[in-house]
Amino acid sequence: MSRVGRMLVVAPCLLVPYLVYRGAGEKELAAASALRGLLCRDAGLALLSYPCPEFILLGFPRPPAPREVYERLGMREVAGKVAAFIERVVAEERPAHLVLVGVRGSPTCAAHTTSSGSPEEYPYHRMEGFKDLEKGKRFALAREIARGFLPASRPGILFELVKERVEGTYLDFDKDDVQGSMEVLEAALFRGGKG
Ligand code: SF4
Repeated sequence: MSRVGRMLVVAPCLLVPYLVYRGAGEKELAAASALRGLLCRDAGLALLSYPCPEFILLGFPRPPAPREVYERLGMREVAGKVAAFIERVVAEERPAHLVLVGVRGSPTCAAHTTSSGSPEEYPYHRMEGFKDLEKGKRFALAREIARGFLPASRPGILFELVKERVEGTYLDFDKDDVQGSMEVLEAALFRGGKG
């Protein structure tokens, strides 16, 4: 059976920014635009995205939450199903060169740097009300809730599981540094010829 050359596994909100927990802001739109531009330049690139685990668990919109809170809410089970999907497709397509792009700071899809916070101090009571807020108010409340989160040098829950099962080059896309992230991604993706 033929084998795929280059494959890019990418968090779906990097292509469709409206999946992001509080809705799409400028940096999400800029990141998606840059990434889609890259994909348009290489129609032969095999693209694998996956169902957004946070959407499956909590729907849209949802307040920001650190990795520890998502553990408590049951993300590991959802992430396990998504990780199995990614593992299966990669095993079947056997790409010669595989790059997996997560989202810096994501409790779920960070490849290297997630967000950490106390699950005891999290305002669970604000989760339901968050869904009824209009976009501007959601953004303001999201900033307030996320104020106490800290970066932590470990993957998000999904990428932790994927890393245990799939070998490849893992990157975090930093939406606060779209240009820098694109340079790192292009270097990882296109090094070594056509794969
Ligand atoms: S769970 Fe992953 S795909 Fe979904 S919004 Fe968060 S980073 Fe993006």
